[in-house]
Amino acid sequence: MASNAFRAPKGTNDILPPTSRDWVSLTGHARALFERSGYEYVDTPMFEHTEVFERGVGETSEVVGKQMYTFEDMGGRSLTLRPEGTAPVVRAVLEHNLHRAALPVKVYYIGPFFRQERPQKGRYRQFFQLGIEAIGSDDPFVDAEVIEIAWRLLSEVDVQPRLILNSIGHRAASCRDGYLETLVQWLKAHADEMAPPDRERIATNPLRTFDSKEEKTIAVLENAPLITDHLCDDCTSHFAQVRSLLDDVGVSYDLDPRLVRGLDYYTRTAFEFVAGGLGSQNAVGGGGRYDGLSESLGGPPLPGIGFALGVDRILLATEDRKWADPGPPHVFAVALGDDARRDVFELVTDLRRAFLKAEFDVMGRGMKGQMKDADRSGARWAAIVGADELAAGEVTLKDLKNGDQVRVERDRLIEVVRDQKDTDGAGEPGRLR
Ligand code: AMP
Repeated sequence: MASNAFRAPKGTNDILPPTSRDWVSLTGHARALFERSGYEYVDTPMFEHTEVFERGVGETSEVVGKQMYTFEDMGGRSLTLRPEGTAPVVRAVLEHNLHRAALPVKVYYIGPFFRQERPQKGRYRQFFQLGIEAIGSDDPFVDAEVIEIAWRLLSEVDVQPRLILNSIGHRAASCRDGYLETLVQWLKAHADEMAPPDRERIATNPLRTFDSKEEKTIAVLENAPLITDHLCDDCTSHFAQVRSLLDDVGVSYDLDPRLVRGLDYYTRTAFEFVAGGLGSQNAVGGGGRYDGLSESLGGPPLPGIGFALGVDRILLATEDRKWADPGPPHVFAVALGDDARRDVFELVTDLRRAFLKAEFDVMGRGMKGQMKDADRSGARWAAIVGADELAAGEVTLKDLKNGDQVRVERDRLIEVVRDQKDTDGAGEPGRLR
């Protein structure tokens, strides 16, 4: 066993074949779905100025308060490995004035995120998210669109998620701020009955008491005032429209007035997707509206909504699923002798340039070894080149299913393999099944 220095750091994963195929398949599928829905790819840096998260996500949130990988660079600036994707995307939109062009800005991202959490199954220090953001509109149709896309992606890859939906209102005395005052008073009156760590949250982040895993706190909060009874008329009607639009497109959901999301920027619509079989880390994704985020980052009022789905957890939830298999090579080329090896290398290159999957030996194995490798690869054809074939400008094609052999002209090889591939009706490698 290697010493610790030569092992991946705690809470990180190496993504290796064959599991990496599932990654390629899931992310490829997500990409296609997002693009079909009019979202375009963005990629922001792995690290940002720490203020982006402090001001954007909020210092009282657990993610910012306890979980960030923050360091100083050589210029003495405080930088942080990104713990989430929304604040960086909004920062980039504002910096590059995308919001001054046509609205909404509709973008998606796929990549690693970093949080110093206690690792366990489904919870890592480096994990991957795929997410979308729709920025510039507070129309309930966008909320429904965004939620439907996440729901569809999860359904298409067989997660069969449960969607939990809530509205947490907006920052105004007539809405969430008023509710927070009522809630804080209520929590103070019941502080003695709560678990000690949760008492501290009353002052710092009262909504988050609803996220407590402490049985004592959960029991007390059964009777706490709920946000949904304190929403202003606008937020009530916005939420009703979102629900009704989801009904229209057959997205089912469970309402939960106790769902509050961990990041401070959320307003109005908040949602989470949970999946069975994942134990305590059962959230496969979540999101919500963040109408005040742009202003927290020094921008103009600019409403937005998005979600982030956890790639690691989706793959855990679909462990039994048959994902796409890259598929066997169409051809495994076999060389008899050194001159033939050069020809085989060219032949394989030609096949690959023609978008066919082809393999050959680079271990210097003899004929027998190469034929064994060809069988093991699952290739449909072995293309054999020896002195005879070289002299005649031909290739012997051996059908590895039934052992039949034919000689074909070297120049016609691609055509013959392609025709046969079409007759076989073989799937393209790498497609989601
Ligand atoms: P959040 O915005 O924190 O709710 O994160 C969205 C999704 O990302 C979660 O539902 C998880 O699927 C995934 N996720 C968040 N943190 C982690 C983590 N530490 N390890 C693995 N996946 C995570």
